[in-house]
Amino acid sequence: MTRIILKKGREDSLRRFHPWVFSGAIAQIVGEPAEGDIVAVFAQDGSFLAYGHYQIGSIAVRILSFSGEDVLGPDFWTNMISRARNVRIATGLDSGSGETNCYRLVHGEGDGLPGLIIDYYDGVCVMQAHSVGMFRAKSAICEALKKVYGDSLKAVYDKSSGTAPFKAGLDLVDGYLFKAEGFTDDEQVVLENGNRFYVNWTEGQKTGFFLDQRENRNLVGRYSKGRNVLNLFCYTGGFSVYSLAHGAVHVDSVDSSRKAMDMVTRNMILNGFDESIHSEYCADAIEFLHDVPEDKYDLMIVDPPAFAKHRGALNNALRAYQRLNAAAISKVAPGGLVFTFSCSQVVDKEAFALAVFSAAAQTGRSVRILDRLNQPADHSVNIYHPEGEYLKGLLLYVE
Ligand code: SAH
Repeated sequence: MTRIILKKGREDSLRRFHPWVFSGAIAQIVGEPAEGDIVAVFAQDGSFLAYGHYQIGSIAVRILSFSGEDVLGPDFWTNMISRARNVRIATGLDSGSGETNCYRLVHGEGDGLPGLIIDYYDGVCVMQAHSVGMFRAKSAICEALKKVYGDSLKAVYDKSSGTAPFKAGLDLVDGYLFKAEGFTDDEQVVLENGNRFYVNWTEGQKTGFFLDQRENRNLVGRYSKGRNVLNLFCYTGGFSVYSLAHGAVHVDSVDSSRKAMDMVTRNMILNGFDESIHSEYCADAIEFLHDVPEDKYDLMIVDPPAFAKHRGALNNALRAYQRLNAAAISKVAPGGLVFTFSCSQVVDKEAFALAVFSAAAQTGRSVRILDRLNQPADHSVNIYHPEGEYLKGLLLYVE
């Protein structure tokens, strides 16, 4: 096996269980690893540190194990996936209660599996490999899912074509790794806190549904009774359905994706809401907001896509969050609520709060923070890898 020897002093972060080795920390590579191979990492003094997936790039090794050779053993994937499932059982998400039957099963570093995302939709597992190692391990991962879920597993779909590193020359074609006998669909209805949603993993964005807003959708529901709601960047209408289920007077949903809006229409019908209480707009959210009359809405949801995908885009992203939030805060009715989010990993919660504070100041209105919002438990954060925290939000009360 290839040995990666670190420069003197560069082992500290691994000793604190941070799961990445940056290429600049490497003194020597003993062997000729292919991308995605498992390599062993050593300190300069020769002491063993960890095993991980090797890749060419700024993150050269993604750590899978800080202990012995378990990563090479036949039960590694089954153990890791079963541990991840146990967390979802402990949090009540995998309880068989019938209220919720979809959750994130594997959240990369948060579950000790850097480079791997698996979302679970009532028996269908949709995986996205973000590293060469995880992409190459997909059959082993699929076998492990079969063992962990047994007969209740309906399908495993690999959707890595948009996430795995394209430079590595992999054969990036999405498709099923497993289908139980008789399972033929590319979509199904899932339950989230008793609300029903179509999820289409082949046509939808990411793995098909934004599971990370589950708890925040509940909170929006709690505040929705009697309100006129504007759901900006609504995707398939998650927040809209919760608002209406909790007694909103009317909800307008806006997204620039035609496919997403078609799904909103279907989700409304699925939950029994008709056109008298819900309107759909396939439009640019910022232009839409520009034309919104003041005082029309007393609850707004602002959940844009990640404005900054890397550090270099940080300043532009902060300005974009500020502009968008200033527009929302200026338009919401007196006594109104704004649920505002950022899912950019490089924008931390302090920076986001600052952008929103500046936005509020720009409008001159009196604004209180009623709540600070996060990603839910199944989007687990490894305490040694704080970078895993990405979703943040604020609930604002605007006078
Ligand atoms: N709130 C959603 C998730 C939002 S993801 C939920 O709960 O499921 C971000 C969404 O923003 C995507 O659906 C994308 O199509 C949409 N989007 C991106 N740019 C946009 C724009 N300029 N105007 C409106 N929608 C946009």
